[in-house]
Amino acid sequence: MLYDTHCHLDMLTEKDATIAIIEAQKVGVKEAISCSTSFASNQKNISLAEKNIGINAAIGIYPIDALELNEEELNKAFDYFSKNLNKASAIGEVGLDYKLSKDKEEREKQRIIFERFLTLAQKNSKPVIIHSRYAQTQVLDVLSTFNLKKVILHSFVDSEKLMKQATDKGYYISAGCNVLYNSEVEKRVAEFSLDFLLFETDSPIRFNGEMNIPKKILQIAQKTAELKKLSYEEVEEQVEKNYLKIFKK
Ligand SMILES: [Zn+2]
Repeated sequence: MLYDTHCHLDMLTEKDATIAIIEAQKVGVKEAISCSTSFASNQKNISLAEKNIGINAAIGIYPIDALELNEEELNKAFDYFSKNLNKASAIGEVGLDYKLSKDKEEREKQRIIFERFLTLAQKNSKPVIIHSRYAQTQVLDVLSTFNLKKVILHSFVDSEKLMKQATDKGYYISAGCNVLYNSEVEKRVAEFSLDFLLFETDSPIRFNGEMNIPKKILQIAQKTAELKKLSYEEVEEQVEKNYLKIFKK
């Protein structure tokens, strides 16, 4: 079976989210983890997870969205996360985005919030799905101060050296649709250890002019097998093992 470890089904209508998971299941994508971005998206993802077999919720706030919340709102949000953690499979999408945030104070605020999420994950042994843009080294630095076992670095495919540093720590990397179009990413995924690989679509974010949907995981898995010169079954089996190790233990 295949799994989409990072998408945003809350960005679709409820009906379209249900259709998306049913269509994905028809091609062998058994489950999708729908990551939260704004605070409001958490309720939508939890509700989607309660209503649809195969949709799992990740709770969190995207680093840029988190900047909009003041101290009181953040406390309220974290209170909500603690109370609803049992309804979620993971914490995400959290992390650091320094591309859109150049100001020193903003970056510091992002880091403090990221650490709060990691503390929550560590206390509750929850997997954590991490966004890092123009901040991959910084994300690894912050992670090194925690003792987290179930870490998924979303689309962390910009640097071979950093990918190696991540797997040395036992972290997983989810490869997405760019493996279908980007020759640099193709090369890195081809050489990357299958033991730390997961697949994601980041649906419904558009990629290469097309709206992503979880069933695209099948294409990503097929392409990965081709790049690694392995059978499709071998890739499917190992990536499933990785997923189950993180989410079902
Ligand atoms: Zn995302």
